[in-house]
Amino acid sequence: MKASYWEIAQSGAVRCALCPHACLIPPGGHGRCRVRVNRGGVLELPFHGRLSSIAVDPIEKKPLYHFHPGKNILSVGFVGCSFRCPFCQNHRISQDTGVPTREVSTGELVAMAEQEGSFGIAYTYSEPLVHLEYVLEACRLARARGLKNVLVSNGFVNPQPAEELLGLLDAANIDLKSFNPEFYRQEIGGELEQVKRFLTQARGRIELEVTTLVIPGRNDGPEEMEAIAAFLAALDPAIPLHLSAYHPQYRYTLPPTPAATVRRLAEVARRYLRYVYLGNLGAQESNTVCRECAAVLVRRRGYQVSMPGLHDGRCAQCGTPAPIVGV
Ligand code: SF4
Repeated sequence: MKASYWEIAQSGAVRCALCPHACLIPPGGHGRCRVRVNRGGVLELPFHGRLSSIAVDPIEKKPLYHFHPGKNILSVGFVGCSFRCPFCQNHRISQDTGVPTREVSTGELVAMAEQEGSFGIAYTYSEPLVHLEYVLEACRLARARGLKNVLVSNGFVNPQPAEELLGLLDAANIDLKSFNPEFYRQEIGGELEQVKRFLTQARGRIELEVTTLVIPGRNDGPEEMEAIAAFLAALDPAIPLHLSAYHPQYRYTLPPTPAATVRRLAEVARRYLRYVYLGNLGAQESNTVCRECAAVLVRRRGYQVSMPGLHDGRCAQCGTPAPIVGV
């Protein structure tokens, strides 16, 4: 299948315009994401519709805490990624296109979601944005059937394709991996400013949540957390921030992030943001409380979820509107 968002360059090369890498791809070559290929001067998608992973997950696993809590969602992954994170938890599918995949048309995918009783589809696990054509097609079909569309992504995409996608999304969790441009550039092969731009573009249009993986010695300074939280608060102080503890993965052998570090950074972030959650620290409680009266609205322990303090979308105790969609 032919890709969208590219143009012919010189000497048989093509220039991809989907993400800010703007890869110049020679004949027979592929872009940095490995899934967009120049075949005879045309940008082709040899992995279109090829899924590496299909599962039904709790929405809390994405993680999304303020969107349809307690529900399961059909979740699908592809292969390839526009980043090269040396600590990637899904490197087997994000950094290797040779893994087994299964061809699933967008119609089959939507039918699968309905058969599973899922309230929507989550595009996740590897980087969905480098498969934008498939995701857009699936989103359109899913929305026409009354299903929700959820993106879990690095947020690295150009404004025009982002605009096309945002019109079809209901919720997203975007990684903000650091607030250090050098870390983005040298360690993971991305650009901080572009991710900030996407978050700015998405703010207020979908249920937007953000995840930062806290890595010892890389992004665990209080000043950096303060900068992340202040940036998000300027977009909207009600954006939930998930601080996730790093564990050794892929090329990183640093020891796991101590729970105390994540808790300390959460306190820093809470000076700016109303909802800061801890992740990857075992089945501890991670609750949403009413910002007016501190009643527990949603109680979570691992993926067990209850909503003791919600009534008609409001705090049952004081009546303040709850920041939760889909209850
Ligand atoms: S989507 Fe892939 S091919 Fe296109 S610019 Fe980004 S990394 Fe390069």
